[in-house]
Amino acid sequence: MPRPTHAIRIHAYGGPEVLQWEEVEVGAPGPGQVKIRQHAVGVNYIDVYHRTGLYPQPSFPFIPGSEGAGEVVALGEGVTDLAVGDHVAYAGALGGYAEERLIPADRLVKIPSQFPYETAAAMMLQGMTVRYLLKETYPVTKDTVLLWHAAAGGVGLIASQWAHHIGATIIGTAGSDEKAQLARVHGCTHVINYRTENFVERVKEITGGRGVDVVYDSVGKDTFTGSLDCLRPRGLFVSFGNASGPVPPFELGLLSQKGSLYATRPTLNTYIATRAALLEAANDVIDMVQMRHVKINAGKVYRLSEAAEAHRALEARETTSSIVLLPDY
Ligand code: NDP
Repeated sequence: MPRPTHAIRIHAYGGPEVLQWEEVEVGAPGPGQVKIRQHAVGVNYIDVYHRTGLYPQPSFPFIPGSEGAGEVVALGEGVTDLAVGDHVAYAGALGGYAEERLIPADRLVKIPSQFPYETAAAMMLQGMTVRYLLKETYPVTKDTVLLWHAAAGGVGLIASQWAHHIGATIIGTAGSDEKAQLARVHGCTHVINYRTENFVERVKEITGGRGVDVVYDSVGKDTFTGSLDCLRPRGLFVSFGNASGPVPPFELGLLSQKGSLYATRPTLNTYIATRAALLEAANDVIDMVQMRHVKINAGKVYRLSEAAEAHRALEARETTSSIVLLPDY
């Protein structure tokens, strides 16, 4: 008898302890779906928001996780552009913390057969996020001076390398001197330890009082006001995450007082909503990695059954770079 499939399920919002390792029934793929056997699963901060209920889910129990890589094991009716055995990866489709899962075929991207699953699972969501932030939300060029918070995190280390490749001036922040050093060697021009230094004053010093063109802020509540103060007049505030809690409601007039600023709150799924956009984004990321402009380090690898440990470390700010979960096959 083959061993039954297992997944991490959540029955109620809460701390890492609500991540339960359970036997699940995956079933056969329906029309337009495929079944994949996952060889690596990505951990992202959004998984924490799903677990705590900051981003509410329609029903319980649900399987968290939005990113993974594996091989196709069964095809649903009407799926013609994939074959059993293909190596695939995805981002942005809930249900990831599982040994096997069903997924709409049009959310999958083929990956080269020599490409490690672990690398694919560590880079799809974070890589496509960095790509849209640097190319579409604000078109970063070699003349851009940008501030990137949490530059040693999963998204942060990819962004440091990608923006360095573009030739931009990157000011990164990080929560310890070790993290600051890591961000520096991954391409940040300047790094500020924002636990020991006032990042607004340091940005002013570094930019000679001008301020930066764009701030990428995924820390949220704790950095919001300071981030606005780092911008040059008519600069862009990009709020793309809430690691310290959501940005509190604010008067729009604040943007005028601080120099006719712009503000946006983007999310990856909007930028990869069509099949064409998804393929373009994913292939750009794969190219950047294959050309070695961006090196993906899965900082820490956990067993899939130990997802709770990964969440504890992520929320305690103990991690750097991307985190991957591996099934126990
Ligand atoms: P990270 O690996 O960057 O982990 C989060 C980091 O945030 C921590 O390591 C820590 O770094 C920093 N941080 C600052 N304050 C806190 C706090 N109070 N609690 C916890 N962490 C804190 O995670 P990811 O790379 O997965 O994601 C980074 C951010 O990007 C998240 O906010 C995520 O939601 C967002 N995101 C948004 C997307 C979008 O499209 N909008 C898509 C993908 C990610 P340090 O110690 O250096 O301060």
